Amino acid sequence: MDLILRNARMIGAEQEPTDIGIEGGRIAVIQQQLAADGETIDLGGRLVSSGLIETHIHLDKSCILDRCRAEKGDLEEAIQEVARAKKGFIPEDVYARAKKTLEKSILNGTTHMRTQLEVDPGIGLRGLEGVRRLVEEYRWAIDIEICIFPQEGLLNNPGTDELMVEALRNGGSVVGAAPYTDSSPHGQIDRIFAIAREFDIDIDMHLDFGPDPDDLDLLYVCEQTEKFRYGGRVAIGHVTKLSGAPPELFDRCARRMAAAGVALTVLPSTDLYLMGRHMDHSVMRGVTASHKLLHHGVNCSLSTNNVLNPFTPFGDCSLVRMANLYANAAHAGIGEFDACLDLVTELPARLMNLKDYGIAVGNPADIVVLDTDSGTNAIAELPDVLMGFKRGRKTFERQRPTLFRPDTGLCPSP
Ligand SMILES: [Zn+2]
Repeated sequence: MDLILRNARMIGAEQEPTDIGIEGGRIAVIQQQLAADGETIDLGGRLVSSGLIETHIHLDKSCILDRCRAEKGDLEEAIQEVARAKKGFIPEDVYARAKKTLEKSILNGTTHMRTQLEVDPGIGLRGLEGVRRLVEEYRWAIDIEICIFPQEGLLNNPGTDELMVEALRNGGSVVGAAPYTDSSPHGQIDRIFAIAREFDIDIDMHLDFGPDPDDLDLLYVCEQTEKFRYGGRVAIGHVTKLSGAPPELFDRCARRMAAAGVALTVLPSTDLYLMGRHMDHSVMRGVTASHKLLHHGVNCSLSTNNVLNPFTPFGDCSLVRMANLYANAAHAGIGEFDACLDLVTELPARLMNLKDYGIAVGNPADIVVLDTDSGTNAIAELPDVLMGFKRGRKTFERQRPTLFRPDTGLCPSP
């Protein structure tokens, strides 16, 4: 074996630690007390998980708080401020900020990423130029796909359509949308489906980003998904409107999404930050209960979205923290913590249609080690991600903290 991870606790089979043998970048064998030679790492019974997956993160506009105002904290201000700031983006600047955010993601165990990337006449293709370089440069640690979308509208913003098509010919492999900034939301959705079909690519839209469960575009998206037989290839992000829906409407939407094959990505940090700014007491949370949608057969994921910008002035790029934040905000029960971990691992893999994901023989050895002993505790305890492997190669390691006790007469270990 090239590498053997010994005493690993697997999610769902935590009682009995096992060994994972890796050869040629893939998982060759999973067996207790594996009799084989090779470089060995004893994990001491710690939890292993498949690499974490970020399905919705904006690398291009991350880390710009120093050049934006974020006083009101609402969506309108965020769009305006970022639109102004991004006119000054140049590829080198985008590259440097995106790289910083990407490295934080890698160091928190993310091994797959779909990054949302905006094009319009204000930014042109400069954002794409900055981010595209990172795809090859960091292939040793993470697989990145780029989703091209029009943040500032499509039908109302001449020149954007041509730029989207050009971006999809030059590095983009998924098409996105933000119909709520368009003069014709359904017109934008129609055009996005047409582009997706023309390129034969998946769709990942920002959708239904608002406080009230009225005029849900998700029903129209479900209709179009069925019309074009696009089930399993469409994801919608935010859908905060659904967080305010009474149970009957919530269940009806869930059934429609499950039947059409439309997946949902919840973005807890952004949704908590931007929603409810119009309220002065009993402020809404705006986080749609994706763990409840799972019961209806809707696929879902949780993701970071924005990092250190007016949409979200937070961000350590930790998906374990995001899942913990979600569990808090969405009232997930202890018995649902395992599902919260699934929302940043198995389920986003399905959303992105990844073919060979997961800790199973034959799959690429994309593995992270968490400083805990069960999937439930990975959500409850917010453990450190101690190390990560991409295609069997260790990509990072984090030391466990050391306590320096007084009066032992011993020198503290380093
Ligand atoms: Zn987004």
